[in-house]
Amino acid sequence: MANKRDYYEVLGVQKNASADEIKKAYRKLALKYHPDRNPGDKEAEEKFKEAAEAYEVLGDEEKRQKYDQFGHNMGPQGFPGGGGGFHAGGMSMEDIFAQFGDIFGGGGFGGFSSATGGRRQARRQQRRGSDLRIRVKLNLQDIANGVKKTLRIPTFMECEHCKGTGAKDGVAFATCQTCHGTGTVTQVQQSFLGPMESVATCPTCEGTGKVITERCTYCNGEGVNRKDQEISFNIPAGAQEGQVFTVKGKGNYPRNGGVRGDLLVVIEEIKHPELIRDGADVIYNLMLDIPTATLGGSVEVPTITGRARLNIPAGTQPGKVLRLRGKGLPDQENGGHGDELINVMVYIPEKLSDEERKTFESLKGQPNIQASDADRNRIFSKLKHIFE
Ligand SMILES: [Zn+2]
Ligand SMILES: [Zn+2]
Repeated sequence: MANKRDYYEVLGVQKNASADEIKKAYRKLALKYHPDRNPGDKEAEEKFKEAAEAYEVLGDEEKRQKYDQFGHNMGPQGFPGGGGGFHAGGMSMEDIFAQFGDIFGGGGFGGFSSATGGRRQARRQQRRGSDLRIRVKLNLQDIANGVKKTLRIPTFMECEHCKGTGAKDGVAFATCQTCHGTGTVTQVQQSFLGPMESVATCPTCEGTGKVITERCTYCNGEGVNRKDQEISFNIPAGAQEGQVFTVKGKGNYPRNGGVRGDLLVVIEEIKHPELIRDGADVIYNLMLDIPTATLGGSVEVPTITGRARLNIPAGTQPGKVLRLRGKGLPDQENGGHGDELINVMVYIPEKLSDEERKTFESLKGQPNIQASDADRNRIFSKLKHIFE
C-alpha cells in the first residue's frame, strides 16, 4: 500500500474540519458503501474500509494530531492503541462495526452485520458493576496538606456464599435453553437498509450461557449483598472543588459476577470562615482602623496554618495588597505554592462619641490630612489595577 490516500481526502473534508464535520462525512460514506447495500461489490467494500480507517484516525483527537504531524509515516505502531495498524484493510469488519455505536448513536446500528460478510459475534463483555460516587468535604488545611480518608461506604459486595454467581453454593447452574449456552441470539430486523441480521446478547441468560436452577438464599440469586466496605485513600494536596478522584475497582460488584466498578470521590470544599480561595492563592480582607493605617503597627491575620502577625507600614492606603509568600496552597498545575494576599481596607467609623468627634474635628484642615495632587497621582497609579 505504497500510495495511501490522504485521510482528509478519503472523507472529503477540509484539513481544518470540525469533529462534527468529520463524523458526518464518515457517516455518509459508511452508509453509501455499506456492504449490505453493495453485496459482493469488492470496490465498495474497499471504500468502506478505507473510510473507516480514515475515521479511526481523524475521529480521534489524539490520533488526528499525530496524523497531522507525521502523516502515514508513523506506521502502525505509531498510534497508541492502534492494534492492527492503519494500513489499508487493517481494520477488520468487526472493528468497523464496533465504531458504529459511536457514529450512529446508541449502538442501534452497531450490532448489525452483513449477511454476506460473515456473522459478527456479539462481543461477550465482562459485566461491570456500577460506580460509586461519594462526596468528601475538605477544609483548607486538608487541601493544603493532602489528607488520608478512611470511610465506611455502603456497597454491593460479592456474596461469599455463591461467589457472586447467585446460584446455590455457586454451582446450581444449567445450560441456557434460549441460546444453548452460546450467550447470543440472532435476530432479523427491518432497517432502512433492508432486512438485517443482528447478533444480540441472549436476554434469558444475559450472555452467560447459563441459567440458575436454584438460587443462593443469602443474596436471593443476585450474587451481591449490600454491606459497608471500609476503604482508605489519599487525596493529594491542592485538590479543588468539584475535582473527581477515581479509586479503581472499589465500586459496586455487578449482579451475578463480573468486575467491580470504580469509586469516584468528588471533592467538596468547606468554606473557610475568613479566607477565600483563589486557585493556589488565598485572599484575606483586612480591615484596618484609621490610626493603625496612619501610624503603622502590627496586626494578626488568619492563615491556613493558624494566626500570623503582619507588619503594617505607616501610611498604608486602603486598596493596597500585602502578600504573604508561600502561604497559599500547593499549585497542582505549576508546582510550588501560592501566596496569601491581604486586601487592605480602612474602616471609617460610622458612629462617634463626642470626644471622638472632637478628635476628628481637630484634624480637619491640618496640613498633612489632605492629599496633594502628587500624592493623589502616586497612590491612584499604584491602585490602577483595581480599576482596569
Ligand atoms: Zn449468594
Ligand atoms: Zn442464554
